Amino acid sequence: MEGPSLIILREEMAKFVGKRPVHASSAIPQIPTSSFQTTLKSLDSWGKHLLMGFGKQVFKVHFLMFGSYRIDDEREGRVPKLHLEFRNGSLNFYCCSIQHLTSPVEELYDWRVDLMSSQWDVAHVGRLVAKQSSTKLCDLLLDQDVFAGSGNIIKNEVLYNLRLHPEAQLEDCKSSMRRKLIRETHAYAQRFYEWKKAFVLKRNWRIYRKRKCPLCQGADTMQKTGTLRRVSFFCPACQPVPDR
Ligand SMILES: [Zn+2]
Repeated sequence: MEGPSLIILREEMAKFVGKRPVHASSAIPQIPTSSFQTTLKSLDSWGKHLLMGFGKQVFKVHFLMFGSYRIDDEREGRVPKLHLEFRNGSLNFYCCSIQHLTSPVEELYDWRVDLMSSQWDVAHVGRLVAKQSSTKLCDLLLDQDVFAGSGNIIKNEVLYNLRLHPEAQLEDCKSSMRRKLIRETHAYAQRFYEWKKAFVLKRNWRIYRKRKCPLCQGADTMQKTGTLRRVSFFCPACQPVPDR
């Protein structure tokens, strides 16, 4: 789940804030169900982390690659990692990691890099990006310290929209393109949120999981790229390898 999906989850969970679960079960040994015998006081997110404050404790939920959730519903045949039942509904988290934060949230997170935060700061992100001139763009756009909330969909779509090869480096880009990259990543995250809320996200994918390039009709390439070896989808004609 990428950053925009976390905002939608928070919106769906908002009805539980200020409420105390009547029943809880946790499949994570380090997180005892007794942790949830108090009111859900706060609900926040940073990048791909959902932050739930129960009493004085804050729990970080990360949905990893295949995590999912159901509200007022459950996935058949699957045991949730965390199940919380409130008087006004229920919550199930699957395939996720849950950790208890040991430091205050403000010390751990920089909201200036969170693509979905009102504190997102283009100048601050620009300064961080400037230190990464030899990083491949496909890795940079997944770096949560720079683009918190960006995932594989955002990465592929942004690089395609800007006609940039996934393994191009920042030093291959002019400074105007670097600025465009930062702004387009932020703008795409906002569009992702709007599209997902309207259930039209997949319909708007142009390159992610596509076989043909919508611009030149050529065959797309699917390949693991960068140091992170995550799958990239790109059009070799429209996103050529940069000249060095
Ligand atoms: Zn193309």
